[in-house]
Amino acid sequence: MTRLLTLLILGLAAALPATAEIFTEQDLTAARELRERALERDGGFEIVADLTTRIGPRMAGTEADARAVEWAVELLEEIGFDRVWLEPVTFNTWHREFERVTVRAPGVAEQELVTLALGFTPATPDGGIEAELVMFDDLAALEAAEPGDVEGRVVFIRNRMERSRDGSGYGPAVQARSRGPQVASEKGALAMVIRSVGTSNNRFAHTGMTRFDTASRALPAVAVSNPDADQLERIVALGEPVTVHLEVGSEYSEPYTSHNVIAEITGSESPERIVALGAHLDSWDVGTGALDDGAGIAIITEAARLILDLEQQPKRSIQVIYFAAEEIGLLGGRAWAEKHHENFENYQLGAESDFGAGPVYEIAARVADEAWPVIEAIQHELDPLDIALGGREASGGPDFIPSLPHGLAVVDLRQDGTDYFDYHHTENDTLDKIDPQNLAQNAAAYAVLAWLAAQSPIDFGSGPELLEANQ
Ligand SMILES: [Zn+2]
Repeated sequence: MTRLLTLLILGLAAALPATAEIFTEQDLTAARELRERALERDGGFEIVADLTTRIGPRMAGTEADARAVEWAVELLEEIGFDRVWLEPVTFNTWHREFERVTVRAPGVAEQELVTLALGFTPATPDGGIEAELVMFDDLAALEAAEPGDVEGRVVFIRNRMERSRDGSGYGPAVQARSRGPQVASEKGALAMVIRSVGTSNNRFAHTGMTRFDTASRALPAVAVSNPDADQLERIVALGEPVTVHLEVGSEYSEPYTSHNVIAEITGSESPERIVALGAHLDSWDVGTGALDDGAGIAIITEAARLILDLEQQPKRSIQVIYFAAEEIGLLGGRAWAEKHHENFENYQLGAESDFGAGPVYEIAARVADEAWPVIEAIQHELDPLDIALGGREASGGPDFIPSLPHGLAVVDLRQDGTDYFDYHHTENDTLDKIDPQNLAQNAAAYAVLAWLAAQSPIDFGSGPELLEANQ
């Protein structure tokens, strides 16, 4: 019994990260202070409240986008960062005007479905498009279809997104939205209807991007709400030919220049070395983008504000980056990678908060082997926040994805996204969905991460070597 106990204790001691050996007692005390002070506050709730109240929806390339950039500069300067600056991001824009889908079938009353056009889809010709509907289970079924079954019709893909904590249902479901319209177009379809990529059973649609290889391939495409997709399935199941009338009004505009907004707490010992926290400032044109990604803006800003309030200055610099135009193709993230990748040896870590306001439950990281014990030691300080140690696969969040091919070291603070896709890209993404306590837990996690990453005696290994190590 005693021997077993001894073995257990020895085993436990060996399993514990050697936190004290990596960080100084002073740095750990500061990390604990950050964590505790963050939990006494509201996670920067007033930041996301102000953004969503004053600006509201802020689709990339709109007047609200420009106002959001001004709002951001004012906020970051007022908070007292050492430097605040803008980096331009130029892109083509698209504006929604209206969308309407009407369904008819023999023995069924004509009815309108609740719908939203997908981003960057073209307008229908005058009078709209009217054609027979053809339904597919998923994108693979559409891909396998004979062009003769699709040509001249309106394609409907009915697959439903699965709910899960880590949001893993999104990847498979979103294929219908991102690739479906292109595939339907190649087979001669006139238009496309998808079931919303989202988990809500409420009667609103989820918008989002779709892509066409060439402008000539573009076809009008809309998402209908989950209950409307159910209704459409039932009408199809009656077995009579179903006719769809679809009208979309939309407009493409000239190239527009928005900005990534960056603020820095300059490091005391190695100011050229940077820990980068990200979130995106743009949102979809529906809803006020409170969860996507006003919450992320609040979380990273509050984390940096807590660090600014410390007695100690971080050794390395900490930057917060409000990325532009994430929703329409990670365009701010692409511009940032393009501009900075040659200097990635100086970037310690990238971590973006862009998954709503649910609590963080896990830390995962893509770092050099020698830096993994640092991640373990950071997790030790996140443990009181109920954040477990995850694996060594991480993306850093959407806006750091374009930086991965250049070897940026990244951390994921994974949030509970069980409810996230009830609101994602909908009219219903509004401030009331944010729980300040959860926001505070997120801010605490980002503050501890940023602080300890800035104090780490070991670099995280960004640069081409990390790329090779992970291949
Ligand atoms: Zn987002």
